[in-house]
Amino acid sequence: MSRSARLLAALLACFALIASTAGTSTAATSTAGTSTAGTSTAATSTAGTAPAGHGPRNASERTPAAAAYTVDLTGGASGDDWSGHERVSFDNVSTEPLHEVVLRLWGNAHGGCSAPAVSVTRLVGGAEDGLSVGCTALRIALPTPLGPGGRHTIGFDVTMRAPERTDSADRFGRHGAYSYFGNALPVLAVRDTTGWHLDPFTDTGESFYALAADFTVVLDHPAALGVPATGRSSDTPGATGRTVTTATARQVRDFAWAAGPFDTVSGVSAGGVTINVHRTAGVGAADAQAMLATAGSALDAHSRAFGAYPYPELDAVLDDDLWFSGMEYPGFVLDRVKATALVHEVAHQWWYGIVGDDQYHQPWLDESFAEYATDLALGRDGAGCWSTVAWVSPRERITNGMAYWDDHPERYETVVYDYGACALHELRRLIGTDTMTRLLHGYAREHWYGVSSTPAFKAAAQGATAEDLTPFWAAHRIDG
Ligand SMILES: [Zn+2]
Repeated sequence: MSRSARLLAALLACFALIASTAGTSTAATSTAGTSTAGTSTAATSTAGTAPAGHGPRNASERTPAAAAYTVDLTGGASGDDWSGHERVSFDNVSTEPLHEVVLRLWGNAHGGCSAPAVSVTRLVGGAEDGLSVGCTALRIALPTPLGPGGRHTIGFDVTMRAPERTDSADRFGRHGAYSYFGNALPVLAVRDTTGWHLDPFTDTGESFYALAADFTVVLDHPAALGVPATGRSSDTPGATGRTVTTATARQVRDFAWAAGPFDTVSGVSAGGVTINVHRTAGVGAADAQAMLATAGSALDAHSRAFGAYPYPELDAVLDDDLWFSGMEYPGFVLDRVKATALVHEVAHQWWYGIVGDDQYHQPWLDESFAEYATDLALGRDGAGCWSTVAWVSPRERITNGMAYWDDHPERYETVVYDYGACALHELRRLIGTDTMTRLLHGYAREHWYGVSSTPAFKAAAQGATAEDLTPFWAAHRIDG
């Protein structure tokens, strides 16, 4: 995400509405990686009785994985409400049985349980076992425990209505003739060694942590509306006055779309990726053309730095009424006609998208890296940047999570974006530009469609240089 300081005041109003009901635990981390036959058996016997929000103690894998989402949705006349069916198949790649899965209904974050914007009904393949975290998490008990290596499918009807946003356009919401469905489609939560990740929504940044999955989403909509979306889209005629858009995406962490009377221009990047830029009525045609060029050059620059963009298409929606500068989704970005923000959101295709991370607990792994990538693409070397760093407390760390930043929102962008990117520039200066280039390219390859972590990055960096990086991490407040 990218935003501007002038919008912080508007943001602060939202914080009080967000319940801190994170259901995760870090107590199990000491046993990570020690999953012997004996401990595994012990964990199996307790997995079914673990308290809510706590998973098995010894599972070393993130699960459920290899998910395939098949979704059929029909949109209403104005594109702000959708209903249909969603089916999700998934593997249990853990060494422990899977007794339940959890769907995240992030669209309910603002309305909460009193005015849910997303609802799931007629569930098959499991039984509803309770909404939690402000109705953004739906537990689904599986009919029988899914053993290691097993695959299972659940299905349900789903309805989504984009809430009306009167002041500005949001990631999920309707503003004027345009509706955005970011984090609206129910997706699986992740269980790992710390249990289920059921963190609360945040408007300061992102809470979204998901594993790479495949999506096939059919959007049946009024022909007068465009539906830019994650993945590669193709249109066929529907019923009278309607169009059926089928979007397919492989190895992505989420699926987002928009609906409205967009004007669209398209091009192909030097690397062969189709880029579609969709503008709202408030954005000029010349701006859309300029942003098309920006998106293409950014995509090519990031591809050179971190490995070729692996998808056939990228959609960028330009809306001058967004309350933030930009927001990233796989193959789909929102941008308030800000070129630097667009380069940043395109960088997120690698840092968050291709190389995933736990955005709630380790936001620097996507924001600092995307900001550093933006600097590289724009030819900025961060010279002297560390001389401007001024910590405001000993607790302030680049690697702090969103729970901390929700308490200190005025410092989030400064520390995680500015100091974080600067720290990576400083690391480059310390180990050498060629080594840094090889490090990031290799690290992206090692975690392609996987999940980055601070310890993994620090280990990779240390492995790339003879320099002892311990003092560097300490001085730059990169913990973990
Ligand atoms: Zn960002």
